[in-house]
Parts: sequence; structure tokens; C-alpha cells
Amino acid sequence: MSVLSQFCLARWKSVDSLTPTALVYNLSSDSILTCSDDDETSNSMEFSKVYPESSSQKTIFSSVVYCIHRKEGCEWNGELRKLKAHLLSCSLDAIPCRMQCGQQVSRLAHDDHGRNFCPNRRQICDYCQVEFNGLQYDSHVGTCTMEPVYCDNKCGQKISRKQMMQHKAIECGKRLVACRYCAKDFSYDTLQAHHAKCGRYPIACPNQCDSPKVVREELESHLKDNCPALMVSCPFKEAGCRFKGPRFSLDKHQEEGMKQHLLLMCGLATRQQQQLSTLRSTVSRVSLNYTGTFLWRINDVQTKIAEARIKEGFELISAPFYTSQYGYKLQASLFLNGNGSGEGAYVSIYIKILPGEYDALLKWPFSHTVSFTLYDQAANPDKACNIVESFIPDPTWENFQRPSREPDALGFGFPRFVSHDMLKKRHFVKDDVLFLKVRVDPAKNMAV
Ligand SMILES: [Zn+2]
Ligand SMILES: [Zn+2]
Ligand SMILES: [Zn+2]
Ligand SMILES: [Zn+2]
Ligand SMILES: [Zn+2]
Ligand SMILES: [Zn+2]
Ligand SMILES: [Zn+2]
Repeated sequence: MSVLSQFCLARWKSVDSLTPTALVYNLSSDSILTCSDDDETSNSMEFSKVYPESSSQKTIFSSVVYCIHRKEGCEWNGELRKLKAHLLSCSLDAIPCRMQCGQQVSRLAHDDHGRNFCPNRRQICDYCQVEFNGLQYDSHVGTCTMEPVYCDNKCGQKISRKQMMQHKAIECGKRLVACRYCAKDFSYDTLQAHHAKCGRYPIACPNQCDSPKVVREELESHLKDNCPALMVSCPFKEAGCRFKGPRFSLDKHQEEGMKQHLLLMCGLATRQQQQLSTLRSTVSRVSLNYTGTFLWRINDVQTKIAEARIKEGFELISAPFYTSQYGYKLQASLFLNGNGSGEGAYVSIYIKILPGEYDALLKWPFSHTVSFTLYDQAANPDKACNIVESFIPDPTWENFQRPSREPDALGFGFPRFVSHDMLKKRHFVKDDVLFLKVRVDPAKNMAV
């Protein structure tokens, strides 16, 4: 609606005898109206033209008013009769658009409207250089295919809308691409860094072997199990071969070094032999019996008796034992089919003095009491009835002198220790096993 067609809101109180509540000046008709209704806000206000007498009219038109565009910023004020003339040049007053778009535009905004807003203006797009009218241009803005816009992937580049698809497909640093080795997706600009640690990335063997490149995560097993260039030691290293070379040269080395390896193995066997015998003597020292009492378990008695019957001089010999840690070294011997006066019907038992390590410091002749016990293995030990025989060595007997380095077969004991008939009685043999105890005691009393 044109500003001119509106009622000027300048109002005056009654100035003469007329008593309307308000007088209103109409700009377009340059006339004075009276408002019949005092209610300013009512839409039903009715105006009627009044014709004040000329002196009053003169007073009204001489009254000082502000420009109707005061609120928008025009600071003009003057007599009411000059208002219309001012509005013809007031920069804030609206006039029809020069380009005939039909809009009313203030003089001040006219150029701006004509350049930027008038639907009838001509405008060239800065990007595609196509000329449009205002309406077409307004809908072109934001869709021009030549306008550079930021890439959606946030790579920071500005690309024309037209080339965006191509950029995102093949140029954008932030586009997703699959690693060609492990097939996982990565942003293009991180791919290089990923390759530096991708498990499936092929790398050259650090040993520079002839194998084609090895996948990174298989390098360890390649080096351990497959790499022909890995430096390895000769399998005869333990035997003393100092050869070290790439794995592929090992076969040749072994072929050429067969004789040398054999010699090394012989040397190793000899050394081990020595170690074994050292060990054996250590073990036997550790397991020696120094108590002076030896309990002898004899298995498979029946078989051994049968064997003794057909083999003359068939003798069972006990492990050596000592009377004390630095004492006499002794050994028992048993003839299951008898010996001397007991041959054929008795079991004979003897004790022998063996050459011992401390003989030089011991008292000779040997004078300890020796007793032999054959155990009755009765189920109730209270009812057991063992067979015991003992003797005190006769100092005149040669057998009790210090033994020479070459021990003779002579022992001392009982050719008729127990008869075969007796052996069958009681439980001397139980489960084909018999137990014999040999006790050597420095006290001179007889064991019973
Ligand atoms: Zn003005
Ligand atoms: Zn216009
Ligand atoms: Zn354009
Ligand atoms: Zn991009
Ligand atoms: Zn990868
Ligand atoms: Zn290799
Ligand atoms: Zn070797």
C-alpha cells in the first residue's frame, strides 16, 4: 500500500469552537478530516471532511510537524503546508521501481533494489557468467555448477559443484580406499602410514635371500623355518664343529665334512665315556652302605636253586658294604646249592674282606663279630622264628689279615648254614624271595 494513500497520523487537538476529538490531515487529498470516534484503535473510525474557517485552517497548516518517516530516521520538521513538498524529495519516501516491477521502494533503497532485489533486474552469475533476470538468478544462486564449494569429506579443498563427484571419487585426500594388501578401508591420506604397518604388506627378507618378498606378518616364521639365507650352526656343533653359514650351504658342508664330523663324534663319545665313569663312581659312593648291616634280598629263589644244582660253584655275591664310613669293606657270598661240606643239601654263606680305601689306618687282623640271619617271613612277626648264626674271627686265621690288592676267593662263614629241608619249612622263602641280614659289630659278644 502506498504511503501516500495512508492517513497521516499527525493529530491536533481542537483549535476552535468545533469540538471534535481529533483532526486528521490526509496527505493524498490535502484535506482536514475529523474523526467521529475517539477510539484511536478502532477500525470502525469514520472520517468526514471538515472545512474549518480560514483563520483556523491557516493556524493548522502553519503548525510544525515532523516528517512521516521520522521513525525510519528522517529528521525533517516544518510547517504542515510544506510536508508534501518535502516528501517529494525525502530520501525515505517510497516511489515506484524504475524497472517497473510494481514495487514501491524508498528513494534511498532504489539503487540497491535495482541492482540486487528487483525481479526485473539483469544479473550475471560470477561463476558461470550467464546472465539472468532477478527471479532466475535468485533460484540459480546455490545451485550454480561452476560455483566452488567445500568438499563434503572435509579435506579442506573447494571444488566446483560440477567436479565434486570426480574429486570425491579420485582426487580427494579423504576418500575411502581399500588397502590392496589387506583389503580394509582407509582414508587415502592415511594409506601410506598404514602400509608401514599393514600385516599383509610384502617386504624384502632382511637376510636378502632369494625368496620373493615376504608378507610382513609371516616374516618371523620365514626367518625361523624357511629362509635359506639364515645363518645357522652346524648340527655337529655340540661335538665341536665351529661351522656357521647360511642354511642353504649346510648340506654341502655336511657332505664335505663327513670325516671331520666322525672324528669329532668319536672325541665326544670318549669324553662322554669319561663323564659316565666319573658319574658312576660318584653314584656308587653316594649309594654305599656304611652301617655295618647289610640286608640282602634274593629274588627268584627257586630258579636260582635250580641253576645252582646244575652249575658247579654257582655263587651269589652281594654289593660291597662298609662297617663305618672309613671302616672295613666287606662282601657276602651265598651258595644256594651248598659249598664244601654243605654241597648238595645246604645253603652256604660266607663273608669276605675286600681291599678298602682306609685299610692302612684300620686295626688288623679284623676282629668284628659277624652274624648271619635268615628271616622267617611269617604273617605274624611275633611267631616268626629266624635262623641266626654268628662268629668271632679267629685272629690267627689268614682270612682276617689285611687283604692284598688282589682279593682271593676265600671267605669265612657257614657251609651248612641252613639245610634245603629246613628252607622248605616255615616262611623262609615267601613269594619266591628270601631275606638275609649280615651284621658286623665291633663288640665281641655274639648276636642272637
Ligand atoms: Zn522525510
Ligand atoms: Zn523493481
Ligand atoms: Zn552460475
Ligand atoms: Zn575432498
Ligand atoms: Zn593393509
Ligand atoms: Zn629369507
Ligand atoms: Zn660341521
